[in-house]
Amino acid sequence: PLRLANVTKRFGTHTAVEDVSLDLRSGEFLCLLGPSGCGKSTLLRLIAGFETPTSGSIGLDGRDLAGLPPHRRPVNMMFQSYALFPHMSVARNIAYGLKGLGLSRAATAERVEGLLRLVRLDGFADRRPDRLSGGQRQRVALARALAREPRVLLLDEPLGALDRSLREETQAELRALQRRLATSFVVVTHDPSEAMTMADRIGVMDRGRLMQVGAAAELYERPANRFVAGLLGDVN
Ligand code: ATP
Ligand code: MG
Repeated sequence: PLRLANVTKRFGTHTAVEDVSLDLRSGEFLCLLGPSGCGKSTLLRLIAGFETPTSGSIGLDGRDLAGLPPHRRPVNMMFQSYALFPHMSVARNIAYGLKGLGLSRAATAERVEGLLRLVRLDGFADRRPDRLSGGQRQRVALARALAREPRVLLLDEPLGALDRSLREETQAELRALQRRLATSFVVVTHDPSEAMTMADRIGVMDRGRLMQVGAAAELYERPANRFVAGLLGDVN
C-alpha cells in the first residue's frame, strides 16, 4: 500500500536519504538493514511525517501523504527509546495512543484491555513503566503504537534494548503478532541475522541509498553488490 518514489532528504549539504524508491506490500514485514548513519531512522521519520522530503513523494493506497501531519497519517512509529511516560500507568500510556479519536471512556478502556491482551500484559494495567522489565516496556510501547490500528507500523530498532535471549524470543513474537494483525511492518535493525529471521523482504541501505530489496535468500544468492554480499555473508 505504501509507495516511496525517488525520495531524497538533505540536511544542509549532507544527504541522509538519496533517491529511495520502494513499494511496501500490504501486510508485509520489511526489515531495513544497514550500518549506523546510513539513513534508516531518517527514512522512517519521512514516512511517519516527522520530516519532509527534499524531493520525491510518499503515497499510501494511491494517496499522496505530502502535507499530512504525523497524527493524520494511517501510519505510526515506535521509537527505539520507547518514549513511555514514566509517571503514567501502563493503561494510561496505551490510552495516550488513542487520544484525539473521540472515543468514550468506556470504549477507550475496552480498547486498552484488548491491546494489553494482545501484547500479553493483562494484569499490568496499573503498573508504572519504571516497575516493568525491558521486555514488558517494549510491549507497552508496541501496544501504544498499535492503538490506532495503523496500516503501516514503523519500528526503529524495537529490540535494541533487550538482552540476547529475550531478543530472540521477541523476534518470533513480533513476527507472529504482525501476521495476526495483517498490518505492514517496517522494522529497522542493524543485525543481519535478526532481519533474516523476521522479514518477508530485507531492504539494505548504505550511505542513504537503498542498495537492494528482496527476500533473504535472494539477497544471499544474488547480492546486487559487494556491500550486500558482505553484510549477509557474515551471518552464515
Ligand atoms: P543509526 O543506526 O546509528 O541509528 P541511522 O541509519 O538511523 O543510524 P540516521 O539517523 O537516519 O541514521 O542519520 C543519517 C544521517 O543523517 C547521519 O549522518 C545523521 O548525522 C544525519 N542526520 C539525521 N538527522 C539529522 C538532522 N536533523 N540534522 C542533520 N543531520 C541529520
Ligand atoms: Mg537510527
